[in-house]
Amino acid sequence: MVQQSGEKKIVKIYPEVKESRLSKLLGGKANQELPESIRSKLRVLENKFNSLIKPHIHYRMVDFRVKDDGVIRIERTIEFESRNLSEVMKSAEKLVCFIGTLGPGIEEEVGALMHHNDFSEAYILDAMGSVAVEDLVDKFQQTIKNECEREGKTVTLRFSPGYCDWPLTEQKKLFSLFEPEDILVQLLDSCLMQPVKSISGVFGIVPQGSILYNPCTDCDDRACKARRI
Ligand code: SF4
Repeated sequence: MVQQSGEKKIVKIYPEVKESRLSKLLGGKANQELPESIRSKLRVLENKFNSLIKPHIHYRMVDFRVKDDGVIRIERTIEFESRNLSEVMKSAEKLVCFIGTLGPGIEEEVGALMHHNDFSEAYILDAMGSVAVEDLVDKFQQTIKNECEREGKTVTLRFSPGYCDWPLTEQKKLFSLFEPEDILVQLLDSCLMQPVKSISGVFGIVPQGSILYNPCTDCDDRACKARRI
């Protein structure tokens, strides 16, 4: 059953460290096979990695209204300002707002390894964390999508503050939907998150069969790292 509007929820999902994603972060090409030397390090680090992460997703499903000027209004006072986000959400019935994290374990261990000049293990562990937190929110979105499909609905593309035309400073508005003491992520004055291996964002819930708009199809920014085509 899809969550009732407004209710705050926390889910635990165990992410995977997909080699196809890791290769790019470790200096190779996307989907390139990793050399055996790296693979054997990954096998050694796997148990340590799993003992360091505490993956959680906090989320709320909220009602909202898309205004004409590229603004999404939630709960009277919160307005997300992004033309592309508002275009994507035009056919959405609800907005899922989330903050996902692996907890502080990875960055603490990476810091300790750097302190002892073990740069290669620190580098690999850090890359494993980046891949895993991305997988965490992918799996979360897929879980909500599966629930939605049982009710004749599906989900839109996902957006995060700081990507596309949604400014990073909007992170403060997204965090204001959650009680600071309920979530395991702190928002710094710079609008970056602590723990670092955290991702916040939103996606919409739309009736199945809706046209799912992707702003990247109309965008000339070929160098954009967030491009989804
Ligand atoms: S390529 Fe896509 S994500 Fe990047 S700026 Fe353009 S619309 Fe936004």
